[in-house]
Amino acid sequence: MNNNAKSADTMERIKTVIRDVPDFPKKGIIFKDITPLLADNASFSGAVKSLAEKYRGLGITKVLGIEARGFILAGPIALELGAGMVPVRKKGKLPYKTISATYALEYGEDTLQMHEDAVKKGEKVLIVDDVLATGGTAAAVVALVEKLGGKVEAVAVLIELEFLHGRAKLPGRTVDSLIKY
Ligand code: AMP
Repeated sequence: MNNNAKSADTMERIKTVIRDVPDFPKKGIIFKDITPLLADNASFSGAVKSLAEKYRGLGITKVLGIEARGFILAGPIALELGAGMVPVRKKGKLPYKTISATYALEYGEDTLQMHEDAVKKGEKVLIVDDVLATGGTAAAVVALVEKLGGKVEAVAVLIELEFLHGRAKLPGRTVDSLIKY
C-alpha cells in the first residue's frame, strides 16, 4: 500500500472514531468527543503522525498544547518532532510566573496562561489543540507566544469546524487541520 492510500485509510478510520455528542456542554452545541479516537491505538497514532508530518525538519523546538485535550495531542507530537512540550492552561493552574491573554467567549471572557520562561525569544513554536471552533482560543495563544518573542510556525488541530470560520481570527497564519466539518 502506498503512503497516500494508507493515509486515506487512516483519515477514514479517524472519522469513524470521533463521536458527536449533541447538546454538550450546553444546548445547541455538538461536542466532538475524541475519547474513542484516543482509545484506538491505530487512530491515535495515525492522528499524531499525520499532524506531525508536515513540520518535520522545520526546526520547531516547542509544541504548545492547549488545556485540556490539546495536551494529549501535543505531548506525542512534540516527541515525534524532537521538540519540548509546553502546557497552556486556564488561569490559576500554573505554579510559576505566568503571562496571560484574555479572549472573548460567547458569554463573557476567559484567560489562558503560560509560564514566562516556556518559550525563548526566536524559538519556533507549533500550537496544537483538538478542535478549532471560533478561533478565539488559538488567537489568544498566538498572542502569548509572540509576547515572549517566539515565532508561531503554525496552528495544528485535529478537527476544524469550518462553519465557525476560526481561520478568520488567525489572518496570515498557517492553520492545518486533519478533519473538517
Ligand atoms: P474556539 O476558541 O471557539 O476556537 O474553541 C476552541 C476550544 O474549545 C478548543 O480548546 C476546543 O477543545 C473547544 N471546543 C469548541 N467547540 C468544540 C466542539 N464542538 N467540540 C469539542 N470541543 C470544542
